[in-house]
Amino acid sequence: MKNILLLGATGSIGQSVLSVIDQNKDLLNLYAITLDKNISKAEEISKIFSPDYIYINCEKSFSKFNTESKNKAITINGSSDLSNLIFDDNIDIIISAVSGFAGLEATAIAAKTGKTILLANKESIVTAGEIILSSAASSGTTIIPIDSEHNAIFQCLAGEKSTNDVSKIIITASGGPFLDKKLDELKNVTKEEALKHPNWSMGSKISIDSATLVNKCLELIEAKYLFDLDEKFFELVVHPQSIIHSIVTYRDGSSICQMSNPDMRVPIAHALSNERRLNINFNEINFSGLNLSFNDFPEDRKKLENIAREVCNKGHSSGIILNAANEVAVDSFLHDEISFSQIYDVIYRTFDTTPMSNINDIESIYEKDIESRMEAKKVVKSIS
Ligand code: NAD
Ligand code: MG
Repeated sequence: MKNILLLGATGSIGQSVLSVIDQNKDLLNLYAITLDKNISKAEEISKIFSPDYIYINCEKSFSKFNTESKNKAITINGSSDLSNLIFDDNIDIIISAVSGFAGLEATAIAAKTGKTILLANKESIVTAGEIILSSAASSGTTIIPIDSEHNAIFQCLAGEKSTNDVSKIIITASGGPFLDKKLDELKNVTKEEALKHPNWSMGSKISIDSATLVNKCLELIEAKYLFDLDEKFFELVVHPQSIIHSIVTYRDGSSICQMSNPDMRVPIAHALSNERRLNINFNEINFSGLNLSFNDFPEDRKKLENIAREVCNKGHSSGIILNAANEVAVDSFLHDEISFSQIYDVIYRTFDTTPMSNINDIESIYEKDIESRMEAKKVVKSIS
């Protein structure tokens, strides 16, 4: 039996993880969960899975949590409780599924534990890739990606001795809800249209990132760190059906891909499996009549891709600036302060104006994040 700590249990990835655990109760135990505010969902989870600990990040929600519905769980709150929980010896697997930069705190601690991390929170790698991977290497922490593209690459590399024989890795992108639209046709799209992803059902931040294609750019940076390869190895390709999640091409001409219908339980189940594959109830691909297509990453979003490549090459504060600019821009769009296409303006201008600096510890990441958010908010104010 493996004991699981699920960070961000009430979110979209959290729900997919719970579904996999529910179908494999003889192998997997939900030992503890964390969440921000959604206490009614936490009560539901507690009734079904009886976790030992529930960490509630938001102080107000923590004090409102109904103790009668918490089952046997001990409810906790505050940074030291979170750190003690992550280091709890009973935990085997930590699933990092908080949304955005807020996921960094717990992921950075988890990287020091020597346990196994299943990583969905790409923002922690974009902002702190060097620090997290070096902590993981020195503590013996294993990181298994559950972002579908990275899990696909991980599966395509299985059995290879190293990445020395890889000639190219294609990261596929669905293209999001505005697949057929040029950037200059996106000025007046609404929140509702932007949040409606054709293939995946996800949290609001990543849904907007998929619509802008920022998600793919964050994934390029995530891949560079997780697989320790130069950005030049990675190509971004639009694949509207979201059936092939990524492709690894080797120098002998073989290309290996991983396929499934778009369902996050597939990469999660893979990452949770131990020697044998887990059983989950999902829709298998119907191959007869299946048409797959691939297109170049759109030319009018190349500037975004180039920024992501620059982040891969420069490291240090560049990923923090890109991530903060994007989070401020997405939040401003969701609060009707800027239009959809102005998200790009906020990112480009913040990235241009915020000075780069060397980053050697987590504290300086937080400082740079605050500075970059202030710069991004100035841009929002100047254009809204
Ligand atoms: P979501 O918004 O649906 O859920 C976020 C979860 O994080 C919620 O449980 C929320 O309560 C919790 N949370 C927020 N701040 C917190 C804090 N400070 N402490 C503890 N918990 C906190 O987000 P999501 O769509 O599930 O995405 C989660 C992460 O997974 C993101 O980094 C996203 O990029 C990545 N991801 C998501 C998908 C997907 O299909 N949804 C796919 C690939 C990668
Ligand atoms: Mg992805």
